[in-house]
Amino acid sequence: MPALSNEYDNLSQGAKDILFKPQDMVIGSERVGDDVYIDVLDPTNGTAVASIPEGTRQHVDKAVAAAVDAFENGPWSTMRAGEREKLIIKLAELVERDGQALSEVEAVESGRTLMNTKAFDVDFPADCLRYMAGWATKISGKTLPVGPAYLPPGIDLFAYTLREPVGVVAGIIPWNVPLCQAVWKIAPALATGCTIVLKPSELTPLTALRLGELALDAGIPPGVVNIVTGYGSEVGAALVEHPGISKISFTGSTSVGRQISAAASESFKKITLELGGKSPMIVMKDANLENAIPAVALGIFANHGQNCCAGSRLFIHDDVYEQVVEGVINEADNIVLGASLDPEAHMGPLVSMAQQARVLEYIDSGKSEGAEVVAGGEALDHPGAYVKPTVLMNARPDMRIVREEIFGPVLATMRFNDNDDILALANDTEYGLGASIYTENLTTAHQFVRGVKAGNVWVNIHGILDAALPFGGMKNSGHGHELGDAAILSHTSSKSAVVNVTQ
Ligand code: NAP
Ligand code: MG
Repeated sequence: MPALSNEYDNLSQGAKDILFKPQDMVIGSERVGDDVYIDVLDPTNGTAVASIPEGTRQHVDKAVAAAVDAFENGPWSTMRAGEREKLIIKLAELVERDGQALSEVEAVESGRTLMNTKAFDVDFPADCLRYMAGWATKISGKTLPVGPAYLPPGIDLFAYTLREPVGVVAGIIPWNVPLCQAVWKIAPALATGCTIVLKPSELTPLTALRLGELALDAGIPPGVVNIVTGYGSEVGAALVEHPGISKISFTGSTSVGRQISAAASESFKKITLELGGKSPMIVMKDANLENAIPAVALGIFANHGQNCCAGSRLFIHDDVYEQVVEGVINEADNIVLGASLDPEAHMGPLVSMAQQARVLEYIDSGKSEGAEVVAGGEALDHPGAYVKPTVLMNARPDMRIVREEIFGPVLATMRFNDNDDILALANDTEYGLGASIYTENLTTAHQFVRGVKAGNVWVNIHGILDAALPFGGMKNSGHGHELGDAAILSHTSSKSAVVNVTQ
């Protein structure tokens, strides 16, 4: 049995250097504190493991001023693209160098196991930084044949487009994969020559703050990457309203995204919104169940279900319903819960006691609306924000557990038969972030990919993201894309130039 409460004695020195002390904001080249600090808690035991300044509008003003200065006055804005590329690669190397400490700190503040934090808050961010670094030298415009009919003959024009960085970006991120989220915001800003002010969630701010320091250590000029901590209602809102900000890149809930979208439209800021999800997974009767069962279990339970792409609605063909549910129950029951630093644990607690209460309330609502809990369904009889991996049978599309994003390890399973339209089932949601289908039939698979209203679709696997793949949602899941070439486009504006070269 793994421990259920973290012990800190065996932490690496790098993690000890970050934990158990106040961690100040990174603004320009300085660490900036405040009179008021917020405790950062370990959700395995409620211990305060560090504290961060409760930032204010004044801090936002200072950080935006530093970012505007770095953008307008160089050396960032005038640096060779190849030099920027090198600095971003250096940052990736520093993230990897400090990988042990970063993954430990992330495990302590977010409750996710070390294996998970190493993969998603160290390895994947390093990948994303390198991928975006490569773009720095490949951002280009076009030459275009122009010669409008209204001009008299004989006028010779040469026209081209430039892609220019949009300016200062505000990155606002949630707590579910904190360092990964921070890099998704910072890396494309750096690659395109933008500067950024990042606001992490106050629940999980510590690795983002360290990343801000690492950016300075890498040689990225002061003011290019600024990290301001505090609450969304104060720091987040101040960033959204700030006239010095040109683009807002937000990841979080649909309700906050809606507020941000309304506020940003006042000043016509560019926005990217990555919001909630209620992703369907469809198991056809011809699916290879040996592959499908572990894939759908991972689809919901990865990152404790605290994952915007979590496959929280599982539709299974009648012929294989019992078999698949039994297999998923088996997968759920084999997940070992334990303290995030214990290497024997497969899954830690949720991020906070509030999140635990929210998830348990959803499970109760599912039961009271008539679904049957067949795995998990409860907290552990122990302090800490634990929730057992939960599977519900015989859910219905009208239930809250099927309609609303839970953001926890809770799977609602439903049946369908040959007469049902799987696209109608999959699309019966306000969200459109992810979707997966399990089938051996190529036609079924590709018809699903075409017809499903989701920004990210997977066949015989769920939730694969890559730095090269644009990531974004349809419907209430968001607006715009991150990663891939889409992130480069959204951090740059096109400028058209026409030169009269008539001899
Ligand atoms: P959240 O409440 O929307 O918060 C996200 C961030 O926005 C936090 O930093 C938050 O600050 C800040 N914020 C809150 N109110 C704000 C305001 N009025 N103006 C500006 N910023 C504000 O979401 P969460 O509870 O942290 O995270 C869970 C949600 O994120 C889920 O709904 C999930 O689906 C979504 N998510 C989406 C994706 C995706 O890529 N699509 C990925 C991960 C998570 P505080 O620290 O004060 O809360
Ligand atoms: Mg919140």
